[in-house]
Amino acid sequence: MVLVMISFCAFGQNNYFFPSGVSFDPAIPTPEQFLGYPVGDWHTRHDRIVSYFQELARVSQKAHFQIIGYTNERRPQVVLTITSPENYSRIEEIRKEHLKLTDPTQSVNVSSMPVIITHGYNVHGNEPSSSEAAMLTAYYLVAAQGEFAERTLKEAVIHVDPNYNPDGRDRHSNWANMHKGFPPVSDPMDREHNEVWPGGRFNHYWFDLNRDWLPLAHVESRNRIEFFHQWLPNVCTDYHEMGTNATNFFEPTKPIGSENPVVPRANYDQLNPLFAKYFAKALDDIGSLYFSKENFDNSYPGYGSTYPDIHGGLGLVFEQASSRGHIQQSSTKVVTFAFTIRNHVRTSLATVKAGVENRELLLKHQQEYFKSALEEGRKSPIKAYVFGDSKDQSRTKAFAELLLKHRIETNRLDADLTVGANKYEKGKAFVVTTDQTQYRMVRSMFEKVTTFHDSVFYDASAWTMALAYGLPHDALNATVKFSKGARVKAEDVALNPAPVIKTNYAYIIDWTEYNASRALYYLLSKGVFVKAAFQPFTAEINGVKKNFGYGTLVIPVVDQNLSGEELFSVVKESSQVAGVDVHSVNTGYNLQGVDLGSNNVRTVPDPKVVMLVGEGVAATDAGAIWYLLDSKLKMPITKVNTSQFGQLRINDYNTLILVSGNYGVLGENGIAKIKSWVQQGGTLILIKNAISWAINSKLIDEQLKKEEDQKKDTRRMDYDSAPEYQGSRSIGGSIYMGNLDITNPLGFGYTSRDLPVYRNTSIFLEPGKSPFNTVIKYTAKPLLSGYIHPTNLDKIRNSVSLQVSNIGQGRAILFVDDPAFRGYWNGTNKLFFNALFFGSNISSGGFNWEEEH
Ligand SMILES: [Zn+2]
Repeated sequence: MVLVMISFCAFGQNNYFFPSGVSFDPAIPTPEQFLGYPVGDWHTRHDRIVSYFQELARVSQKAHFQIIGYTNERRPQVVLTITSPENYSRIEEIRKEHLKLTDPTQSVNVSSMPVIITHGYNVHGNEPSSSEAAMLTAYYLVAAQGEFAERTLKEAVIHVDPNYNPDGRDRHSNWANMHKGFPPVSDPMDREHNEVWPGGRFNHYWFDLNRDWLPLAHVESRNRIEFFHQWLPNVCTDYHEMGTNATNFFEPTKPIGSENPVVPRANYDQLNPLFAKYFAKALDDIGSLYFSKENFDNSYPGYGSTYPDIHGGLGLVFEQASSRGHIQQSSTKVVTFAFTIRNHVRTSLATVKAGVENRELLLKHQQEYFKSALEEGRKSPIKAYVFGDSKDQSRTKAFAELLLKHRIETNRLDADLTVGANKYEKGKAFVVTTDQTQYRMVRSMFEKVTTFHDSVFYDASAWTMALAYGLPHDALNATVKFSKGARVKAEDVALNPAPVIKTNYAYIIDWTEYNASRALYYLLSKGVFVKAAFQPFTAEINGVKKNFGYGTLVIPVVDQNLSGEELFSVVKESSQVAGVDVHSVNTGYNLQGVDLGSNNVRTVPDPKVVMLVGEGVAATDAGAIWYLLDSKLKMPITKVNTSQFGQLRINDYNTLILVSGNYGVLGENGIAKIKSWVQQGGTLILIKNAISWAINSKLIDEQLKKEEDQKKDTRRMDYDSAPEYQGSRSIGGSIYMGNLDITNPLGFGYTSRDLPVYRNTSIFLEPGKSPFNTVIKYTAKPLLSGYIHPTNLDKIRNSVSLQVSNIGQGRAILFVDDPAFRGYWNGTNKLFFNALFFGSNISSGGFNWEEEH
C-alpha cells in the first residue's frame, strides 16, 4: 500500500491519464520523466518518441525495440513489442505457431496461444494526440503492476507502432510547437491552429497513407505491410483526430452500405459491438462523450482499419476531436491537447483488455476466417484470374509483385491462353487461382463491383487493382483449361533485359514497355539525342522481323555529342536501370513503314517541367505528379508556389503543370503570362478542375457540359434526407472504360484502344472543335466498377476524358481524370509520360511537318 502511494506521488500525470487503482514500477521512467515536460505540454518530435521506446526496451525485460524501415525523409519506423519475458524468450516460436492459424491443414491449440495486438497511431501527421498516447500506453503496459497487468503480458503480444507517418507528424509538430504562446492561445483563428499548405496530414510526397494499405505506393506502407504479415494481428488499431467541435468516435462504423462484402459478418455483428462495450466503459469512467455507428466507412481495403479485417483480424478506427495545437476553443469548451491524448490512452488500454479477455474467440475467429476463405474460394464459379501484357512486362511484373507483397499466391502461366480478344503468352502472363486462403484479397484485387447497398461514400467506391494497372485480365470459370506453372517468388518478378549489342547505326526501344519512359529520361539526362517514331515500322532485329509501334524510341549513333563507345555504355546503363530491352539495327532502311530518317521520326526535347503548388492547389494531386516523376522517371520537377508565379522565368520551361486547384491568385497577369507562353509553343498540362478554371479564365476555348440537373428538384423532401440526397450525387471515385486514340502522341505505346480510367471529379468535358483532338472518350456503357448516380452516368457517356486544345504554336492537354491517381493508377501513367515527352510535337490536326512540303 505504501508503495502504491509513493508511485502516485512520483508519477504526477498517471492519475490523470490512467484508470485508478494501479501501481507502477518505479524503475520505469514515465514519458514526463524521460521527456522533461508533462505529456500534452508540447508536441513530441518523432525522434524523442523513438528514444523513449528505446529507453523502455533498455530498462525492461518486457519491452523490445525494432526498426522496421525508414521513411522518405529517413526517419525510422519503429515497433515496440511488449509481452512477458517468458513469451519473449520463445517469440519466434509464438509467431510461427500464430501463423498456422492461416493454414486449415494445421491443427493449433488456441487455448495456450497469446493474442496478437498491434496498436497503430498517427497515420495522419496532423492528428497528433495518438503518438503521445502511444508513449503513455507503452509505459502503462511495461510499468503497471498487479494481476491484470501480469495476465495481459502473459496472454498477449502487443506491438506498438507509435507513428505510422513520422514525416508528416514532425511537419505538424514543429508547426504547433513553433507557434505556441505563453500563455497558450485557444482562439481557433490563431496561426498555431491553422497550418500552411500542405499541412502535416500527408507523408513526404503529400500522400494520404491511410489510403495506401492496398496500393502500397509508398515506402512507409510497404514496410508496415511486411511487418503486418509477419504477425497477422488479431486486433489492429488505427488512431485519428477529427474536428474540434466533435467528441470521440469508435467502431462500429455506419452499418448500412459502408461495409465491405468480403469482410466476415462476425466482424460487424459480433466483434465490433463486443469491443464497443469496452470503449464505452473506458470513456464513461472519465465522463468523455463519444458516438459510434453514425459515420465513417469501412469498405475500402486500403484503410488501416479495414485491411486487418480481410486477414482474420479486427481493424478498429478511433477518432478524437482535435485540439489542433495545444489548446483550442470548441463550441462548448476549451479542448486541451492532454484531454485528447487521455481519451486515446483509455481506448488503447480498453482495446488491450478486450483483446485479452476475448483471446480465444479472436484466435478462433482468425482460424475460421482462413478456413472459410479457402472453402468459399473452392466454391467460387471463378477458378482463376489470368493477367499479363506480353508487350509490357514492366507493368505486368509490377502487378505480380504487388500480389506477392499481399501474400497472394501467384503462379506462372505455362501454356499460351486465349480468352476472347485477350491473348496471354506463356512466360509473360500469370494466374491467380481462387482456391487459396487469400481468396478474399484476390477478390479485392480483381473483382469489379457495380451494385451497392448504399450510395454515400466517404471516399472511393472502387479499387479494382487489375484495372488500376490497366492490364489485360480475365476471370476463368471451370470450362476454361489453363496450364498453371510454378508458384512465383519475389526474384521471379525482377526484370532481366537482354544484353545490348553494339551497333554503329541506331538503337531502338519499344515504347509499349512502361519502363521505357525511365530509359528515355535516363538517356536525355545523359545528353543523348533521342527520337520517337510517330508512325509504326517493321525492322529486322538479329535476322527476325519485328514490328515497332507508335512512339518507338530511336537513338541514332552518329548524330550524338558522345562517341559510339560512350553512347554504347549509356545505352547499356539505360537498359539496366529501366529493365527494358534495347535493340540494335545496322540500317535505317526498314522492311515496312517509315524509315529511321523519316520526318515522322522526331526529336524528343528534354522536358523542363514546372508545377504550380501551394495554397489552393490540391496537395495530394500535386504530390501524385511529383512522386510519379521522382519514383518512376527519376526526373526533377520544379515546384513553384502560386504566389511566386509572377517571378517565374517561364520561358526557361517547356511544360507547365496545373493540377486540381483554385488558381485565382494568379490574376489577370498570370493568365496572360501563361497564354502568351503557350502561344509560343509551351505545353500546358491541366488536370481535373484546373480545366474548369482555365475555361472560365478564357485561357482555353473548350466547353463543359451544361448542368441540366441544376434544375430545381420540385419535390418536397424531408430535411433529414438531404445528406443522402446530396451524397448520392457526389462523385467519390469510380472506374470507367475509355476509348483511346492510340495514334495520338498522347496514346503512344498503348496497344489496345480500351483503357480503364479513374474518375473522382464532377467535370464533364464536351468534345473539342477539332475531330483529331479527342484522345480518350468514354464508351457508351462506361461504368466498370464503383458507384455512380444515374444522372451523372448519363453525363459521363459521350463526354471526354482526355483532350488536346491547340493554342497558337502550343497546346493545352486536358486530363479530366487524374492520370497518376494516388501513385498506383499505373495504367494511365503513360498518357502523362507521353504529354511530357511528346506533348510539344502535337499541333493542330495532328500534323507538324518540320519542313515545308
Ligand atoms: Zn485521420
